[in-house]
Amino acid sequence: MVQVRMEANILGANELLARKNRAVFAGRGMLVVNLMSSPGSGKTTLLEKTIDHLQGQITLGVIEGDLYTDQDARRIEEKGVQVVQINTEGACHLDAGMISKAYENLSDREMDLLFIENVGNLVCPAEFDLGEDFKAVVMSVAEGNDKPLKYPLIFREAKVILLNKMDLLPYTDFSLERFGHDLEQINPTAPVFKVSGRTGEGMAEWIEWLLGEVKGKRAENIKAF
Ligand code: MG
Ligand code: ZN
Repeated sequence: MVQVRMEANILGANELLARKNRAVFAGRGMLVVNLMSSPGSGKTTLLEKTIDHLQGQITLGVIEGDLYTDQDARRIEEKGVQVVQINTEGACHLDAGMISKAYENLSDREMDLLFIENVGNLVCPAEFDLGEDFKAVVMSVAEGNDKPLKYPLIFREAKVILLNKMDLLPYTDFSLERFGHDLEQINPTAPVFKVSGRTGEGMAEWIEWLLGEVKGKRAENIKAF
């Protein structure tokens, strides 16, 4: 009983901090994307490729969530993009308090687009609002078809779904038809982009959609002030 109530309080406190984050981000007219996936989906490689396409067009920042290492943050830093690393020391998700602290540590807090790479985990990251505009889920064809039905919450919460490692499709049993059918039940409205962070396949469509979201956010902000 006690444990249940404590968990509710933690989520309640997170809700308040997430709301604060959202107000800060909205005031700056920046789009904030919470990128989630299981470990090994190719999230960081996809983020690197996305950054390559966006650099020179818009300004960017990245908050990297990881259990213990800063390997992913170093890869982003090599692109010349500002990045703050959060090490959760074993915690399997990011929360809104971690994001507000990390955001304060970015060198330039004005930007068009802030990416948050969540800890690789298909379960609890979906339950914690960080104050983002939307959640994006990355899943690779190498993970198998069972993931959407096994982890419906994360797929339901996503505004956009990226099916990654499409270059590996011929070497797997992955069925695009079944994937489409399963998403039809869980999240029929989210656009699905079939991409490969390795080969760059499908990136143009994803980037075009994402830039549309950035522009939409900016327009919203102009209207509000
Ligand atoms: Mg990563
Ligand atoms: Zn967790």
